[in-house]
Amino acid sequence: MIKDFIRKRSIHVCLICTGGCNGCDIEVAALLSKRYDLEQYGIYYHNNPRECDALLVTGHVAKQWQEKLIELYNKVPEPKAVLAIGACALTGGIFQQESDKTGAPVSNFIPVDAEVPGCPPRPAEIATAILKYVPGVLASYSK
Ligand code: SF4
Repeated sequence: MIKDFIRKRSIHVCLICTGGCNGCDIEVAALLSKRYDLEQYGIYYHNNPRECDALLVTGHVAKQWQEKLIELYNKVPEPKAVLAIGACALTGGIFQQESDKTGAPVSNFIPVDAEVPGCPPRPAEIATAILKYVPGVLASYSK
């Protein structure tokens, strides 16, 4: 009950880096800085998938991450949304040539609701995508 009440007013996001150069992760981290101040939009970041509404997935889904990504996705309570962030998550990016080690795109493993292209995408683009897509995905579950 309390959780439903809180969730109507805030979005909790969890970042999963599945392999890459960490450039995208740095841009996500920048959202927490004073410049972008993600919390002013009611978006809160933490690391427990059991407590989040949306997964932000970066990286090319390296071999060792493939099963783990599915496990983490299954731990997120319904309703949930997934944003694939960065060229690596969407296509494999600079890791495409290592096809035996990369599983990208992320949508090969879990359902993806929105994609944020770029190498890396800017923090403002990531914040815009969270605000544009996540509330809609979460609301569509209650219809
Ligand atoms: S998309 Fe670019 S910045 Fe992001 S993890 Fe891949 S190589 Fe790094």
